[in-house]
Amino acid sequence: MMRDDFTSVSLNRALVIQIRRVLLTVGAQENGLTSVAKFVELAIREKLGDIEIKRFSHVSTLDDGIRILDNWMKPIGSIVTVSFKDEWAWCDHCEDMSCVHVQYAWAIPEIRKVLEERGLRQSGAKRSNT
Ligand SMILES: [Zn+2]
Repeated sequence: MMRDDFTSVSLNRALVIQIRRVLLTVGAQENGLTSVAKFVELAIREKLGDIEIKRFSHVSTLDDGIRILDNWMKPIGSIVTVSFKDEWAWCDHCEDMSCVHVQYAWAIPEIRKVLEERGLRQSGAKRSNT
């Protein structure tokens, strides 16, 4: 019986045979890969991780903000501006200072350095002198 939080997909038979061969290896068993489902789940999770990382990329840094490419926005590949607004990094698209675009900006060391050099602070972070 299918559980509500699971669904099924059809895989190419030759691919499943190949996965079953891999499951017989010591390496697969040492990594807890005991079934085709576990193998496929791990492979998909790894791929999703890659896609998540590639969602954003830094396009440019200007005097008034940074430009970030967001591949999940429509139209595909929209550019978002995170502006330097008072003491905050402010996303012009989301109209927020803690959205994923601002979080991305703070997470990238070279962008973070620019934000810190401009005296901006991260939403939720407290100033050390207050
Ligand atoms: Zn945003």
